[in-house]
Amino acid sequence: MKVDTVIVGAGPGGLAAARGAKRVGKRVLVIDDNWGPGGQIWRGREDLLIEGVEFQFGRQLAQLDVGFGQLILACGARELFLPFPGWTLPHVLGAGGLQALVKTGLAVKGKRVVVAGSGPLLLAVAANLKKAGADVVLVAEQASWKRLMRFGFGLWRSPSKIVQAVELANGNYRAGLWPVEASVGGVTMSDGKRWDCDYLACGFGLVPNVELALLAGCQLKDGFVAVDEYQKTSVDGVYAIGELTGIGGVEKAEAEGEAAGSGQKLQGSHAAFVHSLRDCFALRPELKDLVRAKTLICRCEDVRFGQLQGFASRREAKLQTRCGMGPCQGRVCGPAIEFLLGWEADRVRPPVLPVRVKDLIRLN
Ligand SMILES: Cc1cc2nc3c(=O)[nH]c(=O)nc-3n(C[C@H](O)[C@H](O)[C@H](O)COP(=O)(O)OP(=O)(O)OC[C@H]3O[C@@H](n4cnc5c(N)ncnc54)[C@H](O)[C@@H]3O)c2cc1C
Repeated sequence: MKVDTVIVGAGPGGLAAARGAKRVGKRVLVIDDNWGPGGQIWRGREDLLIEGVEFQFGRQLAQLDVGFGQLILACGARELFLPFPGWTLPHVLGAGGLQALVKTGLAVKGKRVVVAGSGPLLLAVAANLKKAGADVVLVAEQASWKRLMRFGFGLWRSPSKIVQAVELANGNYRAGLWPVEASVGGVTMSDGKRWDCDYLACGFGLVPNVELALLAGCQLKDGFVAVDEYQKTSVDGVYAIGELTGIGGVEKAEAEGEAAGSGQKLQGSHAAFVHSLRDCFALRPELKDLVRAKTLICRCEDVRFGQLQGFASRREAKLQTRCGMGPCQGRVCGPAIEFLLGWEADRVRPPVLPVRVKDLIRLN
C-alpha cells in the first residue's frame, strides 16, 4: 500500500496519531518494534489495532529508510539507569523492565521487591507488581518530601492525575531515599539500612528516544524535540509527539498524536505538568557520588568508571575504551555518563538501535 503518513511507535501517542490521520482520509502505516500495539504502558493489546491502518510489528526502524509524505515520530522513552556498586547483579532490574517481564509472564507471586529510583513510574510499577502477587517491601523515591508536596499541590489543575496518584498510593513509599549498594539478596539504602529482596527494580526517570529525530536533522530544545503547536519539527514533513517532546504521560502523548495525525492545533496545554514533573524529580547531586572507580559503566564493553578518568569527552573516551560501542550503542551508559560527567553525545548515525540481522539486511 502506498502511504501518506508513516508513524514510528504504536504507543498511546502513535495510536492517537494513526486514528487522527485515518479520520482525515490519510493512508497510514505504523511501525513498532514490539509484537503488538500499546507501547510501554498497554504492551501488546490487540484490541487497540485500528481498522484500515497498516501495522508492521517486530520491525525496528534503525535508520530513516522509509518513504513518507508525513513522518510522525512517536518513539517514546526508555529508563535512565544510574550505576552504583552492585547495579549489574542479576536481581537488579529496571523498574519498567521488571514490570514488562511480569506483563509478559514472569511470576513474582510472593517475591520481595524493592522499587527504587525516581518518578511517578515507581508507583505505577509497585501497583502492578502488587497486583501480580509480589510483596513490595519498599518504594524509595530520591526526591524529597518537600518537592513531592509542591508537585502534589500543583496537581489541582489536573484532577485526573490526582485520582491516579490516590489509586497508586503505597504505604511503603519513602521520599529522600535511594539505593547506594546492591549485594546478593538485597540492597543497602542511603539511610544505611539493608533490605533483603528477591528483586531490586530501579529506574531514575525516563530518557526520550530522540535518535531518529536527530538522524532526520530535527532541532532539540533541552534534550527534547522542538515542535510547534501542530507538532511540526524543524524538518519539513517530520512531526514529533509524546515523550519525545517532553516527559508528560499518556494524556499528553494522545493529545499530541491527535494533533499531528489530524493536522489540527494541539488542544490544551501540558507544559505546566511537564515542567513540574521535571522540577520535582530532578536528580539530586548525591547520586553522582554512588559510583566507584571499579563500578561498571558500559555493561556491553565492560568499561569501568575509573577507565573514563583523564578523558575530556564522550567521543575521546569511546575511541580509547570502547565505552558505548557495544550492542546497545550507548543507549544505557550514554545518559548515565551525561549525568555523571556532563558529556553529551556528539552525533548519531545509523543503525540507531541494537539491530537484528534481518533488519540490517533491510538497511542495505
Ligand atoms: C519501561 C517503561 C514502562 C512504563 N510503564 C508505565 C506504566 O506502567 N504506567 C504509566 O502511566 N506510564 C508508564 N510509562 C510511561 C508511558 O510509557 C508514557 O507515559 C506513554 O506511554 C508515552 O507514550 P508514547 O506513545 O510517547 O511512547 P511509548 O508508549 O513508549 O511508545 C513508543 C513505541 O515506539 C517503539 N519504538 C521506539 N523506537 C522505535 C524504532 N526506532 N523502531 C520501531 N519502534 C520503535 C517502542 O518500542 C514503543 O512501542 C512507562 C515508560 C517506560 C519507558
